[in-house]
Amino acid sequence: SNNLMTGKRGLIMGLANDKSIAWGIAKALGDAGAELAFSYQGDALKKRVEPLAASLGSDIVLPCDVGDEASIDALFDSLKEKWGTLDFVVHAIGFSDKNELRGRYVDTSRANFTLSMDISVYSFTAVVQRAEKMMNKGGSCLTLTYYGAERVMPHYNVMGVAKAALEASVRYLAEDLGKDGIRVNAISAGPIKTLAASGIGDFRYIMKWNEYNSPLRRNVTIEDVGGSALYLLSDLGSGTTGEVLHVDAGYHVVGMKAVDAPDI
Ligand code: NAD
Repeated sequence: SNNLMTGKRGLIMGLANDKSIAWGIAKALGDAGAELAFSYQGDALKKRVEPLAASLGSDIVLPCDVGDEASIDALFDSLKEKWGTLDFVVHAIGFSDKNELRGRYVDTSRANFTLSMDISVYSFTAVVQRAEKMMNKGGSCLTLTYYGAERVMPHYNVMGVAKAALEASVRYLAEDLGKDGIRVNAISAGPIKTLAASGIGDFRYIMKWNEYNSPLRRNVTIEDVGGSALYLLSDLGSGTTGEVLHVDAGYHVVGMKAVDAPDI
């Protein structure tokens, strides 16, 4: 453990269970001395999130459905009442109908396109909009993205389009808030077996492909993502904003299948 986050307070959104990327990030931040609050979606997750939060010394566990403006306002009103100010926020949230995370992108429905963009893209802007008002000594905002934003990946479909928009929004938010010392970044994580990922078609194959073909010849863990999140959210990242940092074992630099890659 270290003291990189001592004296800093932040909100973690998107914790579902101990496999969540949000959990890897929360652990790294807690270990570095951060004071944490958590939001969860829906009553079913409350009893999962509470003990995880407690294990990091947090008893601030609040509901928030990012599809609902009033719910986001209620979350930030509660935080403001408890803390007054905020130093960082982590947005580890995405959603799309899993029936459209297989097959062809061209078959995406208007309803699921709109829903995916709303929950996976706009919600980050909506959250940053509220967080900004509590970050009067500067701050750091982080979201999670995937390489499917940059290149076509099997089955990622409308989520790839949504992540491309999310990455663009990171750049626009960075420009808007930079003057106030607020940094906005994304981590582009390699594939990790989480609840959300289980909805993606052939996910096991994608994991194997990344393991065999990434420069590090392995998949990344939520702890790998946690370490990079700590960098971006702490003062170590003070000169970095508008960035999409790849935490993918180097997969994004590769141009073709590795010569030593076994058949899958
Ligand atoms: P996860 O299932 O653990 O987390 C997804 C979270 O999104 C859940 O906590 C869920 O409750 C929350 N969520 C969905 N809709 C919501 C809503 N309307 N309001 C509030 N919360 C809502 O899965 P994860 O893989 O840890 O996902 C976290 C982020 O990481 C997502 O943005 C995902 O796209 C991204 N990501 C995941 C991978 C991967 O391979 N797992 C790779 C790159 C990026």
